Amino acid sequence: MNSPKPQNVRFLLLSQAITSSRLDGLLVTHLPGVRYLCGFTGSSGVLAVAGKQARLFTDGRYTQQAREEVAGAKVSIVKQAALTAAAEWLFKRADKIGFDDANLTVRQLQTLKKQLKACGARNSRLVAAEDIVARLRERKDSCEIEKIAAAVNLGSSLFPTALAAIRPGVAEVEVAGAIEYAARRAGAEGMSFDTIVASGHRSALPHGAASSSLISSRGFVVLDFGVILAGYCSDMTRTVSVGKASGAMRSMYKAVLEAQLAAIATVRAGVPAGQVDAAARGVLIKAKLGKYFTHSTGHGVGLEIHESPRIARGQQQPLEEGMVITIEPGVYIPGEGGVRIEDMVLVTATGCRVLTPTEKQLIEI
Ligand code: ZN
Ligand code: ZN
Repeated sequence: MNSPKPQNVRFLLLSQAITSSRLDGLLVTHLPGVRYLCGFTGSSGVLAVAGKQARLFTDGRYTQQAREEVAGAKVSIVKQAALTAAAEWLFKRADKIGFDDANLTVRQLQTLKKQLKACGARNSRLVAAEDIVARLRERKDSCEIEKIAAAVNLGSSLFPTALAAIRPGVAEVEVAGAIEYAARRAGAEGMSFDTIVASGHRSALPHGAASSSLISSRGFVVLDFGVILAGYCSDMTRTVSVGKASGAMRSMYKAVLEAQLAAIATVRAGVPAGQVDAAARGVLIKAKLGKYFTHSTGHGVGLEIHESPRIARGQQQPLEEGMVITIEPGVYIPGEGGVRIEDMVLVTATGCRVLTPTEKQLIEI
């Protein structure tokens, strides 16, 4: 049996979501959402959906590309702003129109409102509906899971390159450069975010982007990096020790690893996201390191590096089969150093599949 095209299924789910939000039209302005729904990867375009009709509005730079990429929607190449054209089309076809309030500027919204008045579409209304497409994107279909797994594998394959580059006296940016060059050579379209290489005291900065600091002869190095492959992001963190780790470093590493494993063991469809966070946090609190775990446990990953759901304290949202999330507890002691360990996992009915294949025992360089 032929499985239906992902775009068809996505539009079907979208039209159900639009209806259950009591809307009859949707303006998709966030490009990853546009890509998810109709396949268009250009940097300018707006997708309008009304009932069973969907139309992508873009400009002449993308005539050829849109023809090749777009599925499930008709394409209009327009001379005016894509948003204006999309709104004009939509105002004729829908009364209650959702827009992505997280991805529209104040000015764009004002323009839309003016346009609505000018159209004389008296019954039409604009309604903030940020999460319609974001919610759909939380659960990955098999096509996406395959792409994500390939990105994760490519990302993990760079870890030995990173290890080989780490030596006392080498600048963090050089290590980042080695990772990024190897990523490109292995076929990555780009990095999914600025590579983090944080050594020594800088390892206590949770987002210590690689700097010109030189790696010293002793201490932790936090490596957090990811690649984009076929549009999908990977994200992983490993922390290594330069020189022999002290007893204190070892126990810190052990606690973070235990926290990470405890969180992974909690992941299952139906479990509230906050419970996964609590599992990691509980281990670190017990180890008297709770106050040094200053961020949330994880986030969704897909076409964007940070997507919903958030795996954070108190989050009631239940995990669902097909969600791909990170599990990344960390401990950061100012003036000393930090440890973070991050894997990507796929939520299943009975638990999860850890996608990141890289080992997690403490490596001493
Ligand atoms: Zn990361
Ligand atoms: Zn992450």
